[in-house]
Amino acid sequence: MSEITWDLFHSQVEACTLCPLCQGIHHKVPGQGDPASPLMLIGEGPGETEDLEGQAFVGAAGQLLTRMLEAISLPRDRVYICNVVKCRPPRNRIPLPEEITACRNHLRMQVYLVRPKVILLLGATAARATLGEQVRITRDRGHWEERKGVWMLPTYHPSALLRDPAKKKDAWEDMQSLRDKLTSLGLYPDIYGEAAKIP
Ligand code: SF4
Repeated sequence: MSEITWDLFHSQVEACTLCPLCQGIHHKVPGQGDPASPLMLIGEGPGETEDLEGQAFVGAAGQLLTRMLEAISLPRDRVYICNVVKCRPPRNRIPLPEEITACRNHLRMQVYLVRPKVILLLGATAARATLGEQVRITRDRGHWEERKGVWMLPTYHPSALLRDPAKKKDAWEDMQSLRDKLTSLGLYPDIYGEAAKIP
């Protein structure tokens, strides 16, 4: 098997025709950010703006996500952001299970390359694709789960917060929990300090 590198990842995504989602798109949206970030954010799939620009989370939901990160003092360029599928589903529909399965290897490559310590799962699709179909986002958001040494936190997708601002209170609790986890793990010591670092 070839060595997994970022170049290989990007070339494989660019050439990928493994599912029908690549038909009619403007750009693949592999993801972007700090490639060695301790924190990875995974969403559902690219929307219209993302498809036009080839960047993840740059539309209205992405701008809200940037503000949510800033609210816990985290500059967006210090995290890695991607989606479960790299091509925009038509009319922003939820990706089908077979499309998520087809794209899973790309996501696995990203997790392998970034090697995050913490993953924030944005919305039901990302949470189910990562933690299992049993996840119910309204029930399970805010609950940490550790898998193979990686801490995972499901929360609402920012587009759900735009549709229903009443969810913002829970989302803020989740962001505070994320900040506390990053602090307790000694991650981002330049932002959160070293005091709580586990020896
Ligand atoms: S969504 Fe993923 S699997 Fe489907 S064509 Fe795009 S890159 Fe390939």
